[in-house]
This record gives sequence, C-alpha cells and structure tokens, in this order.
Amino acid sequence: MERQFTKEIESLRLSDGETFHGEGILAVTKALLQSGVSYVGGYQGAPVSHLLDVMVQAREYMDELGVHVEACTSEASAAAMLGASINYPARGAVTWKSIVGTNVAADALSYLASAGVMGGTLIVLGEDYGEGGVVAQERSHAFALKSLMWLLDPRPNLPKIVEMVERGFELSEVSNSPVMMELRIRACHLQGSFKSKNNISPSVSTRQKLDGPPKEFIYDRLAHPPATFRQEKLKAEVRLPAARRFIVEKKLNETFEGEEKQLGIIVQGGLYNGLMLALKTLGLALNVVYPLVPEEMIAFCSDKKAVVVLEEGQPEFIEQEVATFLRRADVQAKLHGKDVMHMAGEYNVESLVRGLAKFLSQHAAHLNLASGSSWLNSVQETKQKAATLLGALPVRPPTFCIGCPERPVFSAMKLVAGEIGRPHVSMDVGCHAFASFEPFSQGNTLLGYGMSLASAAGVGPMSSKRPVAIMGDGGFWHNGLLSGVASNLLNKGDGVLVIMKNGYASATGTQELISSPPEEAREQAVGQSSVHADRTIEDTLTGLGVKWLRTVNNYRVGEMAKTYKEAMTTKEKGLKVIVAEGECQLERQRRLRPEVSRKLSKGERHVRVKYGVDEDTCTGDHSCIRLSGCPTLTVRDNPDPLRTDPIATVIDGCVGCGLCGENAHAAVLCPSFYRAEVIQNPSLWDRLIGKVL
Ligand code: SF4
Ligand code: SF4
Repeated sequence: MERQFTKEIESLRLSDGETFHGEGILAVTKALLQSGVSYVGGYQGAPVSHLLDVMVQAREYMDELGVHVEACTSEASAAAMLGASINYPARGAVTWKSIVGTNVAADALSYLASAGVMGGTLIVLGEDYGEGGVVAQERSHAFALKSLMWLLDPRPNLPKIVEMVERGFELSEVSNSPVMMELRIRACHLQGSFKSKNNISPSVSTRQKLDGPPKEFIYDRLAHPPATFRQEKLKAEVRLPAARRFIVEKKLNETFEGEEKQLGIIVQGGLYNGLMLALKTLGLALNVVYPLVPEEMIAFCSDKKAVVVLEEGQPEFIEQEVATFLRRADVQAKLHGKDVMHMAGEYNVESLVRGLAKFLSQHAAHLNLASGSSWLNSVQETKQKAATLLGALPVRPPTFCIGCPERPVFSAMKLVAGEIGRPHVSMDVGCHAFASFEPFSQGNTLLGYGMSLASAAGVGPMSSKRPVAIMGDGGFWHNGLLSGVASNLLNKGDGVLVIMKNGYASATGTQELISSPPEEAREQAVGQSSVHADRTIEDTLTGLGVKWLRTVNNYRVGEMAKTYKEAMTTKEKGLKVIVAEGECQLERQRRLRPEVSRKLSKGERHVRVKYGVDEDTCTGDHSCIRLSGCPTLTVRDNPDPLRTDPIATVIDGCVGCGLCGENAHAAVLCPSFYRAEVIQNPSLWDRLIGKVL
C-alpha cells in the first residue's frame, strides 16, 4: 500500500482529554470509533482513501474493539453493507469518492433510504468538486434530495468535523435515515487538532454477536412493494420532520453575528473558511445542507434587508429552497445567490470577493470596499504576469511514473497503429488513462470505472476496425468483469480488451485486489526485482468462456506489438483479451529500495541498471521520446557545434525498466541506446575489470 499509517494508528487509540493532531480525514476515522461504530467499509478514491487505508492497517486494534472492517470491491458493495443497520442497532460507516462512487452505489442507496435504518449509518463522501477535482463535476447534493438522505457539509475545522460525525449518527437514528457527510479535498487534508474521547466498543460487534435475525419478522423493513409506498410517506411525514427537529435542537447549523445586521450570508459549511478569508464574520454557516429547516431560515432572514446564498455548483438547490421558504412566509428580504456568483465551478476566495462586492455594493453602499477592489486588481496583475511568463513554457501533461509497466503497452499499440491504422480506443479510470495525453494520445471515450469494454459495445459493430478497450485490474474487478466481459460474451461481441495487470488498484494508492500477489509471495520477494504474479484474472476469464486469451510481459515491446497486432487482425471472431502483465513500478521500488539502502549502508556491492544515449550516434529526431514519454528520457544541447537539434538523453532517475532498449529494437530506431550497469561498492574484481576496460 502507498503509505504506512503507523503513527496515525497510534492516534486512533487516544483516550479522553488527550489531543489528536492530524489530517481531517483521520479525525473522521477517530470520530467513528468514538461514536461506537460497529462496522466500516468503503472503496478507495481520493480524497477519502486514508480513512479506509488506516482502518485496514489497524485491523488488530479494530479486532480488539470488535469493529469489522471491509475493503469492498465497489461502492455498490459498500452501500449494500449498510443493510446491517436496517434491522439491528448497529452503527455503520462507509466511504468513497463522490460523485462517481455515489453513482455506482445509487441502487443500494435508494433501497436503504427507502427501508430506513435502525442503527445510525454515515456515508463519508470525498466530494471531488472544484478545481482539484478529477471526475465529472457534479454534486452529491442531488442524491440527498432525490432519496431523502441527509447531507452534512461541516465547516472545515477538526472539532466541528468530529462533532458532525458524532451528531450524524444520532441524526440518522432519530430520523431512521442514512446520513451523508461530504468532505472536499481541502477539508480531508486540513491539519488541526481536537480533544479526543474514549473509543466505544460497539454493543453489536464481532465480539458481541447477534443471536440471529429479529425475533419478529418486519415486512416493512424491506424496500419492496407494498412497503415502499408506506416508506415514501414515512420519509416526508415522519423522518424529515424528525431530522429537522434534531438539527434545531442540537444547533447543528451555526449563526455568527456581524455588524451589518440588515444583511445575511447563508453559506454551505464546507465553503466557510474561504468565505472568512473573503470577508470578516457575518452570516449563517449550514453544516447540514439537506434538509434545510424552514423556521431556521425564516428566523434568520426575517429581520434582514437582503441575504445572499453561497452555494457551489449547479443547480442552486439551497437557493431555490430558501426562496420557497421565504416566499411562503412572505419574508421580504431580497434574495441573492447565483445572480452575483457564477453557476458552475468552485467558489475560491477570489470569486467570493467578487460576488460579495456585487452584493454589498447593492445593499451596503456605506461600506468602503476599496481594499477588496485593490486586492482583486493585484490578483489580476499577478495572473497576467504569470501568463506572460508561462506562455513560453511547453505543456507538461500528467504521465505515468518512471518505469511504469503500462507505458510499454502504449508504445506497442502506437507502433501497431502505424501499420494498421488507429482504432477506436475506449479508456477506463486508472493510471492507464495517462495514455490519453501526449505522446500516446490514445483514448476516445472514458465512461467510468470498469466501463471501457461496455462503452465499446456500440462502436464495434459499426466500425471496420476492431475497437480496443483498456482496463486496469482494479477496473476489471470493480465493474469490468460483469459490465464488460460478461456482456460482450453474452452478446457474442468482438473487439480487443487489454487488461493492465499491475497487481494493485494503483491510481488510488496501490490498495489490494483479489488478484494481488499473495502476501506470502510479497514477503518472500522483499528486495527482489519481481514477485510471483497471480493468475486469478486469467482463470476467471477462461472460466467465463473467453477463448482468445494471451498473457504478455509488458516490457517485451516486440512481443506485445505482435500479440496486439494478431488480436486486431485475426479472423477469429469473439472477444480477444490481452493480459498485460507487469507489476506497478511504485510497489516494485518500495520493495527494492529498503534492501538497496541496507546493502549500501553495509558497504555491500550493488548493481543498478541504467540506460543511456550515445551522443555521437543520436540523430536528434526524438522518435524515441515520441514512443516513450518517460520523464527521464529527455533532451539536452547537442555537443556537436555543427548540429543544432537537441539530442536525447537519459537523466538520473532512470530505473532501468528496459523500455528504451525495447523500443529502439521494436521500432528499429537509431542504435544510440546503451544499457549500463552502475556498480556501487565495487569489489576488487569489479575494479580490476574497470581498469582493464
Ligand atoms: S502508480 Fe504504478 S501503474 Fe500507476 S503510473 Fe505509477 S507505476 Fe504505473
Ligand atoms: S529505461 Fe528508458 S523508459 Fe525505462 S526508466 Fe529508463 S529512461 Fe525511462
């Protein structure tokens, strides 16, 4: 796994009155234990991966408490796990990245919200919205509205986040409804501290087991007609009012008094810190963005001349609801929101200052806004200066790690495309999506995790060339096996599927999969350059009925190109699967580095492979760079004064993956590449040979 949480695991044990220091997402983890959670599950994804990673690594302590931890295979299985709280007084929490994860979990969430819960359920969402976002820009708010699940959006402040986790469970129990808590990237990684409480061993747990199902069979707990008709009524008539009462009673939303009494700002809790940077204290922070409490809104707005709602993204759910409350109660405060702020995208400090300036200039003309305007001008000037300076810099798209096993596969595909033409390539979520950037530019569609093969289903029958789907082993187990492979086989489809078998869910922090190399194999391979690969993917595909199946070592570019060309051109009908085998280079280096440093510190001999470019033979045409994109294969000034083209060079950092040599051979490039062995702590024999050579 990407990170060891040894120190953080210790913080999970803190007791009453001790101070917890650390990241927002780890504070959530501690708060779950303080709340007596019985079970925790989830699916990895930034920015909430650490919650589950730390729990998985703290299994021993979780066992002591009796908390069950499950690394789910998808967000759907995590959401379905919450079913344990429908019939039993067991608190459960799950986590994933939203919006994508919530989309995957939507089916189970609808049923859960309909049935209602007895034990508190909390869904911790990594809300990947805004400038740092890497998925489709939509908000989880819509799911809360449609299913009537409550949505917490706590002010980014550790004590508040912890309080909202604890209150979240209570809110869930008093209203029998699931509660979601959204945490933006900054809130997850925010550093801070809070006073800990003792962890609570849950009353239903792996140590205190249930006798069996409820004694009395309750049909109404099934989300199945006719119970669903009653459940829909319960949501509106019982659960929603109960939630609203609790929000008011426990003061979950916060009001901050300011000097301009006639004006109000209603802000989502998550935007509060940004707002404070834009403005001195004045307004109402909504730590619960759904449901809103009409009485609370009316009380806040009735003595105001004007209020502005600060709510990121579209549509303006909160503003519309506030407008309805105010109109119904005939409150005359003028309502602003999206008329002064932009509709789509993150609200950063700059945009908040601009929006608030518009609002204040209409309703508080007596205020001097000059400092805001001068700050905005200085921001604008800095941006212009940066644009002038950076305009000359080449674009640097994100790319694979140095030595990544996925890069050679795309080199091979690029070589074959040169011979047979470019096919339609459907991409998937994962590291391999970097191939959609230069120098590979391969990837015509991206429709979700594990969906690449399914997204090629419509293209194949209408194309003269076979479409190609790329999928990671993470995506394969998440959704690709059923949505892609099974569907293709059922429909007697054609096409080529390349599965990147790197051994882990690498893009999210190298979490383990069912096909990860077994633990014993990894233990035995410490310090070794390769680990015994697992065959679960191949066995599953064969069992399912895939006839054309090849496993190829990624780094053998020539062999990969030959196999890929055969898959693209064979007359054989049906799905062709290439399992591209090569361990994630990050995990490989994690295994190798400690052993290398141990050897070097003891003065033992160590040989490191490195590739290089002979400056006299390099023609400077850079075809090797266009075929590789490795960050350590770059250019430098031509030492020949008669030639102006920069030559290729391999800089320090090359991990000697061998792709340079393979590409040069497979693409018949100039013979400039050489393989060197760098010997550290050389033996007497090495020194002697060195002298002779
Ligand atoms: S994390 Fe692993 S699979 Fe992903 S780009 Fe890096 S080396 Fe490649
Ligand atoms: S051999 Fe080439 S591709 Fe591999 S790490 Fe070194 S420079 Fe990069």
